[in-house]
Amino acid sequence: MSARVLIEEIVRSVREAVGSGHSQPVPLHAPDVSRVEREWMSACLTSTQVSTAGSYVQDFEEALRRVSNAKHVIATVNGTAGLQVSLLALGVRPGDEVLLPSLTFVATANAVLYCGAIPHLLDCDVETLGLDVAKLEEYLESVLVERGGQCVNRNTGRRIAAVIPVHTFGHPMDFDGLRRALAGFRIPVLEDAANALGSQYKGRTAGLLGEVGIYSFNGNKIITTGGGGAIVTDDDELAGRMRHLVGIARADRDFRIAHDELGFNYRMPSLNAAFGCAQVSRLDSFLKRKRVLARRYCAAFAEVEDVEVFQEPEYARSNYWLNTIILPSGGDDLLKGVIEGLEKAGLCARPSWIPLHWLPYLSDYPKMNLEGTDRLASSLLNLPSSPALVVE
Ligand SMILES: *Cc1c(COP(=O)(O)O)cnc(C)c1O
Repeated sequence: MSARVLIEEIVRSVREAVGSGHSQPVPLHAPDVSRVEREWMSACLTSTQVSTAGSYVQDFEEALRRVSNAKHVIATVNGTAGLQVSLLALGVRPGDEVLLPSLTFVATANAVLYCGAIPHLLDCDVETLGLDVAKLEEYLESVLVERGGQCVNRNTGRRIAAVIPVHTFGHPMDFDGLRRALAGFRIPVLEDAANALGSQYKGRTAGLLGEVGIYSFNGNKIITTGGGGAIVTDDDELAGRMRHLVGIARADRDFRIAHDELGFNYRMPSLNAAFGCAQVSRLDSFLKRKRVLARRYCAAFAEVEDVEVFQEPEYARSNYWLNTIILPSGGDDLLKGVIEGLEKAGLCARPSWIPLHWLPYLSDYPKMNLEGTDRLASSLLNLPSSPALVVE
């Protein structure tokens, strides 16, 4: 099939899946704001408890506890702050290495650098869009050694302090595969579930598979608080430590407000939490509508040879945060052509995150062979995925 015909077919299929009557351009993912959000915001404003006072943050954390089954939920100013504090609580120190996929949003690596630690980039595969666990198992065998009860990179001599698997576009990665690759090494797992609120891995909540997990509620995520995030864990000690760090390490003495170490002002404000309460109450509706949209994409692309709609791996139930197609690996020209064709038809589309090892400030850190990620970067395309595309 010529590139021109392929582009026409893709535009026709996306149009069919999205349906008509939407105002253009149809965005990749827009927040869904209803009467429910307006009521919560109005109540919050009327109460004047817009910042740290009041119960909106606790209400939001409680609502997240119910949907995630997490024992502890700590709301934060954004997902990146949640990653940073989780790493610190897991004991990541300056000069340590932290393993993470190259195919992720820069925040995952930035949080590692904020701790003074060193990102060590891993490859991803097309079956899960997450870590290529078979390749990882072999790689860790050859690179890691146990030295004095610690897990060390034999090439750099640095301690491997944590691994951050990412559930790409909401699709759970192969967590048992990751556990297999890590067997024999004591490396704590921090799940970057920024995209994956509402997703499940073998019936378990994405975000609660490792020691700690984080969600993001940025404006383009499955639910939003304007900006915000949350840390989830079942571990009491870690939870206490993280809540302390997020709240500027307050340790009140007598009648004075005191601080017993360097903490962070990373708490979510009440205004955002009130918005979040409304959004969590609508999560089920968002999840249902996103599955309908995902099915529509599958049907619309069924006849398009050469293009595959990415579907949840068989072990997972995905939130289908961003619908994604896999184009034939035709380099950037095809990708650009498709995006232009969709743009002309009033439809937004976007290539995957730029792989971290392509970014100059991250290109010199330790990494394995990243061919799988390179291929994905030139063949993945995110398509319009707002819940509003499906009638409630
Ligand atoms: C959005 C996102 C983050 C960061 O969340 P913020 O709330 O924007 O700080 C981290 N990791 C991934 C994979 C993301 O998509």
